[in-house]
Amino acid sequence: MSENLEPIRYSMITEKNPREIVMLRGSGCVWKRCRFCDYHLDKSPDKEANFLLNRTQLLQVTGLYHKLEVINSGSFVDLDEDTISLIEEVCLKKDISEIHFECHWMHRKEIPAFRKRFADKGITLKLKIGVETFDSLFRESYLSKGIDTDSPAEIEQYFDEVCLLQGIPGQTVESMRQDIETGLQFFERVCVNIMVENRMPIKPDPRVIALFQKYLYPDYINNPRVDILMENTDFGVGGTANA
Ligand code: SF4
Repeated sequence: MSENLEPIRYSMITEKNPREIVMLRGSGCVWKRCRFCDYHLDKSPDKEANFLLNRTQLLQVTGLYHKLEVINSGSFVDLDEDTISLIEEVCLKKDISEIHFECHWMHRKEIPAFRKRFADKGITLKLKIGVETFDSLFRESYLSKGIDTDSPAEIEQYFDEVCLLQGIPGQTVESMRQDIETGLQFFERVCVNIMVENRMPIKPDPRVIALFQKYLYPDYINNPRVDILMENTDFGVGGTANA
């Protein structure tokens, strides 16, 4: 996202798993090492300022679809407690029964208590992780993602949904299809983010993106369990690489 323009932080997704979405601001991704991501720059150490910004977004939520997705340039653990409490309050007031949060692998042990906190109020959490690819050697040596398991089944023990990063050098039609199929096998939903150029060292590969568009897009665009973001603003909020 531009450093000079305030990104759009509230939107409504009307197709496939309709939901409202808010991009909130927290203290920032703790990992910060993914070699393709500058999304973690949307952060502030000022909890009060974050809460005021987040409050403005959360007060726009209508509850129309009874589902809300919260993204925050990192993990739910980076959000301040006042923001989390307000999310709970908004959900109860607006009859929202399902919330999606994102989380990095390093915080996975904090997920069960967080699920319980919301479950006690009748709200189901869906946790999303940016796996980017299930090829762990490629993921860790090239993308530096910080997920120290090569087992989708182990990731599935904590998470409900995955994000994949496609359109980067080294990927093929077969490898991208394999990742989507593994995602569908182990997780409820898959979100494919097509790489968009930013200031980080890993760049999109136009040839790989063209292959995706020709061979994979037609196969998955109508799959209700697959979201495809050709631009990282396709959900209507600014900058959506996921934790
Ligand atoms: S992709 Fe997610 S985990 Fe990686 S640096 Fe960016 S915000 Fe952090």
